[in-house]
Amino acid sequence: MQDLQLQPAPNVTRRQLLMRGLRCQCPNCGQAKLFETRLHIHRYCPKCGMRIERSDGYYLGPACINYGIAVFTFVLPILLLGFIGFIAIKLALVIALTGALILPVLLYRFSWSCWLMIYYICLAQELHANRPEDCDDLSFEEELRTRPKD
Ligand SMILES: [Zn+2]
Repeated sequence: MQDLQLQPAPNVTRRQLLMRGLRCQCPNCGQAKLFETRLHIHRYCPKCGMRIERSDGYYLGPACINYGIAVFTFVLPILLLGFIGFIAIKLALVIALTGALILPVLLYRFSWSCWLMIYYICLAQELHANRPEDCDDLSFEEELRTRPKD
């Protein structure tokens, strides 16, 4: 594991945050992907060292986005088609259940990236790259000092 150094970075605009979110890239540097593997997110960005997976409970944001997209764009419309008689209700239930099992897996990466994008678009000043030079960024430096070596 390489030793990460704090590097000064230019300010990140909300437009850049949006593009990085859509590409599943680190919101701070935009140089690294958020995921190590298909379903495993980096705990820290491998390029800039920003902590991506923050604490227990931080996964609730992506879970809500994932659940919302799966339910409101797929499961609910299919069930409504079944209830109004456009398709057989048993078929609608099978399709909805299948979608409810498969869609969250397919949307996992996107929902994480979406959550980080929304979080940092709303709180852009919390992004390390957007902090002023004289800002005492103790939490970021503390994370770099105390992070476990892989
Ligand atoms: Zn980064």
